[in-house]
Amino acid sequence: MSTVYNFNAGPAALPKAALEAAQKELLNFNNTGMSVMELSHRSKDYDAVHQQTKQLLKKLLSIPDTYDILFLQGGASLQFAMLPYNLLPQNKVGQYVLTGSWSEKALKEATLIGETNVLASTKDSNYSTIPDLKDAPFTDNDAYVHITSNNTIYGTQWKQFPSISHAPLVADMSSDILSKKIDVNQFGMIYAGAQKNLGPSGVTVVIVKKELVQQAQVEHVPTMLRYGTFADHDSLYNTPPTFGIYLLGKVLEWAESIGGLEKLEQVNEEKAKILYDTIDSSDGFYKGHAHPSSRSSMNVTFTLPNEELSKSFLSLAKERGFVGLNGHRSIGGCRASIYNAVPIEACMALRDLMNEFKSNN
Ligand SMILES: *Cc1c(COP(=O)(O)O)cnc(C)c1O
Repeated sequence: MSTVYNFNAGPAALPKAALEAAQKELLNFNNTGMSVMELSHRSKDYDAVHQQTKQLLKKLLSIPDTYDILFLQGGASLQFAMLPYNLLPQNKVGQYVLTGSWSEKALKEATLIGETNVLASTKDSNYSTIPDLKDAPFTDNDAYVHITSNNTIYGTQWKQFPSISHAPLVADMSSDILSKKIDVNQFGMIYAGAQKNLGPSGVTVVIVKKELVQQAQVEHVPTMLRYGTFADHDSLYNTPPTFGIYLLGKVLEWAESIGGLEKLEQVNEEKAKILYDTIDSSDGFYKGHAHPSSRSSMNVTFTLPNEELSKSFLSLAKERGFVGLNGHRSIGGCRASIYNAVPIEACMALRDLMNEFKSNN
């Protein structure tokens, strides 16, 4: 098997060390004679995995005791609905900041459930920027303010989170959680599908202030859609995605072993710089989609002078073992997703390929 550079947007690259650790004990977990997948979710052996994963996440992100950490299913997409079901009461407004397709989808779901408002939108710039909320029309009636911390499709990212004090700030961090240090205290809730930066698909992490869960008016909300159900049962109300949680734990162990968030942030900045520098020094051959002030360190989006060159670049890349560089169908061009598990060597190889292709064309 030849070298593959995995730039998939999600499911995405996983740390090799995490996969190898899982491989080693795949058939016999902790001397149980069974795979971790075959254990009862009520067993002592599985419970240790569950608790360790939670504790490690808490430690890495410095999550205060005042927050619940939940492992759910249904992806980030189910959170688009679960959030308003729990935290958007009838007499209040869910405020949404639109910075891309995922925030649009989050808004669409909330609109089915309660009253919503678009606080700001950068759709006019084809979502190439992050808006300033300085003069945004907040109200006394805001249930929460929802943002998408990293816009996976357009390649933009909040560099500084808005400071909101009148209502909880809620962030969809699916594509940049664990990529840098954050202050969890700034948020009422954070949610993330695991398959970009945390682990395999199938687990969704929700970090939510306990008081929000306790105050939620959920008499008419189905049991499985209440945060309280999962908070009260430590995410073991029903069968959790045990293997996904286990592998998430392996990814977290890897993250800790290489130096935690500080180190990840530093490497992620270096990786992104390699690619943005390549774009910026290409005399306009490569054009970045995101405005430089809003550039994502996780998803680097760019175009070539025309569709034909774009196609020929992508086919050369494929030939050389680069996977997942096609841009999302909604903006075209190319996208390199460089999540935590993508090694810096892959970014260097992509830089070399981009320079070579530019010279030859
Ligand atoms: C991928 C992604 C989603 C959708 O996640 P699913 O787990 O597939 O539902 C939502 N928001 C963001 C920011 C994403 O990157």
